[in-house]
Amino acid sequence: MCPEMSGSRQLFNSVCCMSKDEVSPTYPLGEKKHVMQANTEVTMTAKVMSVGDLKTAKTGTKYRILHIADETGSLDLKLWNNDAETKCGLSEGHTILAQNLKVSVYHNIRSVIKSFKTTITKVDEVCNATLSPEQTSSRSAIECSIKAVKEFSFYNSCPTCNKKVISHDDNKCFGKCDSCNSYYNKSMLGSTCRLALQSEHDESLLAFGQQALQICAVTNVTEVKDNMEEVMQTIFSTRYRLAVNRRNNQTIISDVTTLDV
Ligand SMILES: [Zn+2]
Repeated sequence: MCPEMSGSRQLFNSVCCMSKDEVSPTYPLGEKKHVMQANTEVTMTAKVMSVGDLKTAKTGTKYRILHIADETGSLDLKLWNNDAETKCGLSEGHTILAQNLKVSVYHNIRSVIKSFKTTITKVDEVCNATLSPEQTSSRSAIECSIKAVKEFSFYNSCPTCNKKVISHDDNKCFGKCDSCNSYYNKSMLGSTCRLALQSEHDESLLAFGQQALQICAVTNVTEVKDNMEEVMQTIFSTRYRLAVNRRNNQTIISDVTTLDV
């Protein structure tokens, strides 16, 4: 079941015991964000920082994510169905008073959802929302598998700077690195790895460099070179959970864990 939907029973109960004009407690977004409990309702005044693209969930339901902020912090506001299509008439820069938003907590990340009880009103109030880089990025977890190995190659690298040794002569017992100008007796083995990943929500991701090697559980490049077949078999039958940071349309993988199949 979709995590956002799992609290619908509780929401229904709270509707029954709340009178029509009652409004949920007001929260600043940043400092007190961590106290917002899942499936409770909150009211906030915030500025629309960005309006995301219309997306389709696994269930086929349309959704859209708006990033909203006040002077204390920012979080995602999720719109579903018709609201997702119309954006509730909102654009970047609008200040809104959102009453009775539903709190969602997923992988310890809080967001708010416009439910059937939520009212969103545009207000003239000036809302300061100067975000720090930390606040503009949003962390989440993605479950994915490897779709394709775009590249997995090996090269001789400099033991001092780890850069690729361009003009390496295997017959010489020493060489000179063109990148850092140092001499070496024996070059190291380096690896270029690029992986195409596909998330459970059909999102495509590219992992490269250290992240890709981490996904392949490579600690020793020389060992891998001799066991490529085994490595390929393992990675294509493994599912991964990636902790990712999203910022300015970039997705940065910050942690990799393997999942039991
Ligand atoms: Zn070097």
